[in-house]
Amino acid sequence: MAPNEEKLTISKCPKCTQSHAYTLEVQRSVSVAYTTILGSPETRGQRRSFTRLFTCPITGEDFQARFWVFEEASSKIKTVKVGNLVTESNDEPRST
Ligand SMILES: [Zn+2]
Repeated sequence: MAPNEEKLTISKCPKCTQSHAYTLEVQRSVSVAYTTILGSPETRGQRRSFTRLFTCPITGEDFQARFWVFEEASSKIKTVKVGNLVTESNDEPRST
């Protein structure tokens, strides 16, 4: 997996109720050194929610799913794209 790829598992597909795993291409801004003048402890990061379109590999239908990606305070998320389906078998991952 590439460094900017993360794995996302949809536990229950709304189309076929099975679980599917996808890669996410997460583009983050370059880490910057943070100088916290106020000394706030709330600079470690947060989870951000995203909604993207996924394709069910069983039915071939699209569905929307909401998921969370952890964002570090020093490295903001710029874009999140849905990548390939992650398969447990030897099948070629299907490209979008
Ligand atoms: Zn499905």
